[in-house]
Amino acid sequence: MSGILLLIPPLTQLNTPYPATAYLTGYLRQEAIECRQGDLGLDLVLELFQPKGLSDLFDAIELGAFELPHALSNMLRNRASYESTISAVIGFLQNKNYTLAYRIAARGYLPEAERFKTMRDSELFFGSNGIQDKARFMCSLYLEDLADIIQATVGPHFGIARYGERLARTAVSFDPIREALEAPLNFVDQVLIRVASRYFENDPPALLGFTVPFPGNLYGALKVGQWVKKNYPETRIVFGGGYANTELRELSDTGVFDYVDYITLDDGEIPISALFRHVTNPTANPLLKRTYVKQADSVRLINTLLGSEVPQGKLPAPDYEGLRIRDYLSMFDIPNPMHRLWNDGRWNKMTIAHGCYWKKCSFCDVSLDYIGRFEQSPAHLLADRMETLINQTGETGFHFVDEAAPPLAMRDLALEILRRGLQVTWWTNIRFEKTFTPDLCKLLAASGCVAVTGGLEVASPRLLDLMEKGITIEQVARVCKGFNEAGILVHCYLMYGFPTQTAQETVDSLEIVRQLFEEKLVQSAFWHQFAMTVHSPVGLNPEKYKVIRTGPVFKGFANNDLYHEDPTGADHEKYSDGLKKALYNYMHGKAFDFPLQKFFAFPVPKPLTHPKLVSKFFKRLVRDEIDWIGYRIMWIHTSVQRGTKQNSEPELLFVLPSRICRISMPAAAADFILEHAHRFDLLSPEPLEFVQTLQRLGERVGLRPEEVVSQDWYIRLRKEVLFVLKG
Ligand code: SF4
Repeated sequence: MSGILLLIPPLTQLNTPYPATAYLTGYLRQEAIECRQGDLGLDLVLELFQPKGLSDLFDAIELGAFELPHALSNMLRNRASYESTISAVIGFLQNKNYTLAYRIAARGYLPEAERFKTMRDSELFFGSNGIQDKARFMCSLYLEDLADIIQATVGPHFGIARYGERLARTAVSFDPIREALEAPLNFVDQVLIRVASRYFENDPPALLGFTVPFPGNLYGALKVGQWVKKNYPETRIVFGGGYANTELRELSDTGVFDYVDYITLDDGEIPISALFRHVTNPTANPLLKRTYVKQADSVRLINTLLGSEVPQGKLPAPDYEGLRIRDYLSMFDIPNPMHRLWNDGRWNKMTIAHGCYWKKCSFCDVSLDYIGRFEQSPAHLLADRMETLINQTGETGFHFVDEAAPPLAMRDLALEILRRGLQVTWWTNIRFEKTFTPDLCKLLAASGCVAVTGGLEVASPRLLDLMEKGITIEQVARVCKGFNEAGILVHCYLMYGFPTQTAQETVDSLEIVRQLFEEKLVQSAFWHQFAMTVHSPVGLNPEKYKVIRTGPVFKGFANNDLYHEDPTGADHEKYSDGLKKALYNYMHGKAFDFPLQKFFAFPVPKPLTHPKLVSKFFKRLVRDEIDWIGYRIMWIHTSVQRGTKQNSEPELLFVLPSRICRISMPAAAADFILEHAHRFDLLSPEPLEFVQTLQRLGERVGLRPEEVVSQDWYIRLRKEVLFVLKG
């Protein structure tokens, strides 16, 4: 028995590993602690979705003599077809069988059940050239159909990206979870135990650690914990991660300790290394950090190990060694460009910073460490980690899973990526704040940024203020425009049902969303209904936000989601369908002229928002401010030469990474640019300061700086070649 085994319990995403074990593995190996890792979600799915797995599954369903709806019993009749195609489908989703797409997309190859009904609406999305996408989408539907029949029969807890999620949602008491855990093993549980047991065959670990990020991972972790306790009683078991950090901060029910020995809170590096030392060398008074244990029939939080967290600058790169990177599945289950990024492709996951630099939004868990403790990593270190990960995984895609990546840290990272010439693709979550100028957006795009996600929430000035979101609708529109012009996709998180939100504010907010899509400023969005949590300012102080907490009654286990009443607001729940219908249409570029009240099955007020509000924001031409002190003017990966045009004004020819750009300008301006060409370069050791450069350029062409910035040739230079960036 030796070392630590870190497992991701079923199920998170299937396209890429959840990063927590890789982070911890990197740290533990740096501390010379022996550590292995695995993803039980991927293991479970690959064990189920193979010919023998499906054959056993269908046998078990037949044996169970379940009463099935028509569509599912047809699947059973068609079992031979599923069993013969499953290996090909999995191989295709693992990007190992490219040409199969043609056969799949032609239809008639894969068995089709209930989920394929959505194909009718989606055919248009793929067109005649989207063969690979269409095939990937169809394979995802095929797996969803299989998940449906499993859930309806021998694996009621199973879902493609979750396991037993319903059990752990608002689980104020541990009793229902215990009841499910003590029930006889169902078919999927048996497969889960089989794949988990393989990690124990040769060398059981001294400490088994589960990361439980979401409610949909709790049941799987405890089920395996139960088996380990019975079969390998000397192995100690711990779990930590997002679920414990948010939901178990008031844990008092000892029941969960029949399945695990310890639960840690917040960042895992110090707690798990301290725990390993204790487990391998037990003492009566252990030095532990933020670790729950069961002692004398009660739960104790031990925090005897003093000292701070590992500084971000001291953390090594995540270590993915041991995870089967090549075996993940690139799913594509909703034809939406942003959703696709989440589920398709193997992204290396990292963070630019710990926590959120804003930490004010009143609906957010700002009182918790993972949001409230902000600490940034320097750009050079992030780039070092990126290089390490590229070497390790062979993947050059990065998803920075920040709560809200700081714009200036993104700028520094982009510059570092460009300086090192890293060929990477990346995306992250942001706040729509005005620091994202069009220049910064272009810089981010030049470094490989392809998408951003961010919260617009309720597009209402009153509610944005009440939420302390710190953004305005105009600001969001401008930032989105900057990203779009730079070719970066934008996804917005939208919210409805914030305390005191009226019906009028709901339709007004929808009208803004309509305009953002009509103006092509946003490509994707999703509505979430406001959820009141114990750790958010609203949950901590409901009176201030005029809501009434109505439950649930805490019974010793999870405490996070709160039931609430909103006496002055609308009946929020009933707007859900209409909002989603409208959004679906806008995302597909449709129904911009359709009166939006008609998306609701009941009377709603007409929007009071001006129908051209968003486009009016852009009527004013934005020019460079001539007093931008502390800014640099530069170009990126560009060279310049004289053009061959012979008429009145000379022309300069700029060789940009993706095209050649010709700009005519006065001879004096062209000479100035050619003389300073080496200093315009991003990598120049003598960068050009913006205000001074503008002044000198003006002197050469005989114009004042405010006149220079309104010249057509200057405006084109700024639009196509030059960047002005702070710092
Ligand atoms: S909602 Fe986002 S921006 Fe607001 S505090 Fe939370 S993490 Fe930060």
